[in-house]
Amino acid sequence: ATMPPLLAAIAVAARRGALLRDATVVEALAAVDAVAMDKTGTLTTGRPRVVTVRAADPDGLVALAAAAEAGSEHALGRAVREEAERRRLTVPAASAFVAEPGIGVRATVGGREVTVGRPSRGDAAGPAGWIGPAGAVEDVEGSGATAVVVSVDGEVRGVLGIADDVRPGAASAVDALTRLTGAAPVLLTGDAARPAAAVAARLGLVDVRSGLLPDDKADVVEAWRRDGRTVLAAGDGVNDAPLLAVADVGLAVGAGASALSVQAGDGVLLRDPMAVLPALVELARRATRVAR
Ligand code: ADP
Ligand code: MG
Repeated sequence: ATMPPLLAAIAVAARRGALLRDATVVEALAAVDAVAMDKTGTLTTGRPRVVTVRAADPDGLVALAAAAEAGSEHALGRAVREEAERRRLTVPAASAFVAEPGIGVRATVGGREVTVGRPSRGDAAGPAGWIGPAGAVEDVEGSGATAVVVSVDGEVRGVLGIADDVRPGAASAVDALTRLTGAAPVLLTGDAARPAAAVAARLGLVDVRSGLLPDDKADVVEAWRRDGRTVLAAGDGVNDAPLLAVADVGLAVGAGASALSVQAGDGVLLRDPMAVLPALVELARRATRVAR
């Protein structure tokens, strides 16, 4: 007996590392006319590196940040831990770890509260003189990197610049998705405006929404759905669970996609999402045509 076309499509997708939940996902994929992309780990490789350390005591700052990030699943947390290893630092023990999706992490290190995360309005410029030249956040973001602020008991101690490469196939995937769906993908990110714009420029993306919290990303997609659009969303982190849950087709990126984002979504992309997303839409369209 031959396999029904929608199931055959699921099997072909699986061979390409795309695990789709069921046949309704294939039908929804075929109807997609709007695409939302997370930046970190989706359009970029998800292997970010620390490229700048701005602090009076750079090694001390990295060790402290790595301690606070010990329990983090986020790509930025891994980058900070890897920098501590590269510098061969002794990382102190941390307790009371809390991840704040889309914001950062906090933990107790040596009896003090350490936070590592996105710059808030208050510390964007930095109190004059706190780490040499003021405006470290501006400098780091101006270079296209993501600025992460490290504070101890509420006092800023330094800024890390973390950069991630755009995936090699991302620009052509963006072109293909634009052609297939009739609309350019939209970049939704929790990152700041400048690092987001740096990635968008390399991909020819014009619609970029930055500084979004996880629920803000979901709100954007819900508005599109109220307009009658069928939305494909791809994202990786814990922070993308709300986005993946509201999209018609929410795909969690990476074998390391967090359990939460996998559960919230309609499938998992085990390999480079940029290599597979346009092919998935084409495959789904062919399968639904045959099924009819
Ligand atoms: P994206 O939308 O690009 O995946 P997130 O929503 O995960 O980004 O994070 C938004 C911002 O919050 C990051 O750019 C960073 O400034 C901060 N952030 C989130 N998680 C962490 C973390 N574990 N360590 C440091 N900063 C973090
Ligand atoms: Mg993310």
